[in-house]
Amino acid sequence: MTYTIEELLARSYDEWLAAADKLVFETRPFIDGAFTVATSDDCFPTVSPRDGRLLTRVRAASAEDVDRAVRSARAAFEDGRWRDLAPKERKRVLLRWAELILANAEELALLDTLEMGKPITESLRVDVAKAAETIAWYAETIDKTYDEVAPTPGNALALVTREPLGVIGAVVPWNYALLIASWKLGPALATGNSVVLKPAEQTSLAALRLAALAAEAGLPDGVFNVVPGRGEVAGQALGRHPDVDKIAFTGSTRVARLFQVYAGESNGKQVAVEAGGKSPQLVLPDADIEAAASAVAWGIFYNAGQTCNAGSRVVVHSSVKDRLLTAVCRITRETFRVGDPLDPATVLGPIVDETQLATVRDYIARGVQDGASVLLGGERVLTETGGSYLEPTILDGVANTSVVGQEEIFGPVLAVVSYDGDVREGVRLANQSDFGLVASVWTRDVTVAHRTARRLRAGTVWINTFDASDVITPFGGFKATGAGRDKSLHALDAYTALKTTWIDLA
Ligand code: NAD
Repeated sequence: MTYTIEELLARSYDEWLAAADKLVFETRPFIDGAFTVATSDDCFPTVSPRDGRLLTRVRAASAEDVDRAVRSARAAFEDGRWRDLAPKERKRVLLRWAELILANAEELALLDTLEMGKPITESLRVDVAKAAETIAWYAETIDKTYDEVAPTPGNALALVTREPLGVIGAVVPWNYALLIASWKLGPALATGNSVVLKPAEQTSLAALRLAALAAEAGLPDGVFNVVPGRGEVAGQALGRHPDVDKIAFTGSTRVARLFQVYAGESNGKQVAVEAGGKSPQLVLPDADIEAAASAVAWGIFYNAGQTCNAGSRVVVHSSVKDRLLTAVCRITRETFRVGDPLDPATVLGPIVDETQLATVRDYIARGVQDGASVLLGGERVLTETGGSYLEPTILDGVANTSVVGQEEIFGPVLAVVSYDGDVREGVRLANQSDFGLVASVWTRDVTVAHRTARRLRAGTVWINTFDASDVITPFGGFKATGAGRDKSLHALDAYTALKTTWIDLA
């Protein structure tokens, strides 16, 4: 029985609880078109943050398993079973895969919600629906993308063609397990590469299901492999593998830099990095305060703040700070109901695991120690459930250069920084960060808005909105946030190399 996303969004809490009870978990690595037995005895637990219960144990892939997956991907690439198919045939397979993702929305959304605690409505609307949309969007590019003919003199013809790189190692985090994987898989597979995906330890199950659906759609064996495993073992083995052509990584800055080292110490493979942020929302005195307040609340509390582009810092002019914060607190109390992520009424689910919850709580304590005050929240709640829940939290009076003003907390904690003087001071504080993923500016003055947008050092700048996005625009950051961009047609370039073919016509 399959259900549409709309039908699933209409389901009750009890129906979701019943559906969750029926789930069966596949935990084996998916290599060469089939689930296989991992060679190591090492297991890691998958614990649901909604109630602290053990869902299953995953046998961690070893370096040998990663090697098997890479060899399978290489063989598939070299014999051309995928890249040499007619473009419209490859498009058909990927479109079928996108359809299957939607047809299996119930199971994929449940896996996502049980593993990482995302509210079920958001697992459906964002992770599942947008992952399918991304795969379909890149499928559609396959038979609509042309190469180039260079402006040579008449006695020559020079073709500039894009060729797939070969074997791509995709290493992804847990916060949008399906969506971020699709940002790599869509363009990499559309351009004819083979992929080995290493999901985060916390979210292996949904990724494995994705692989089975790809096979069902007709993706040839070996073109897409999934190796669930520990970062320092399976992730490192992929990063150091001499036969991987590129690593497409999303995760923390620390691990991103490890991948750059792995590449330098192995075969010099390309490394694209999408790492974290401390993204500012800059609120100028003439802003629409009610609209800004709503965007500030959603910007930090959506997905419990576990979003790389969370608006975790608000930089607000002191003349409007009180009005803004009063509105943010009201909207947060009215909207962000903390609860079981299987309950469709929940807006703020748990933190992904106990380790991350402890890290977030340490940051709150550190903020207070450094002089900030807790304006809202700050406490662990719903302990009787066994889950890892935290109230939405606002730290006021944060010094921009303090730890909570600079470091990515990756939880539902907003740092409020205020400024006096003109817009240049606001921009200076907004840019005073090692990161540069996204930023917003709130003002009614269109000239000031454009000038400020140009000065903000971020891969995406929003004017009078926050987190508006689509597969059609690039996503990624400046500075420590990384190198390379996901999404949009530009991502096709990231998985191809240019080849010149010069023909003498004289
Ligand atoms: P992480 O860096 O700890 O892990 C990311 C991936 O790297 C996981 O698959 C993990 O297993 C692997 N890994 C961990 N240690 C490794 C090692 N020593 N060698 C090789 N691989 C290793 O990040 P996370 O905790 O899963 O995710 C949270 C981070 O991701 C945050 O910093 C967040 O900002 C960032 N993020 C960025 C974006 C973006 O697009 N810019 C999107 C989502 C998340």
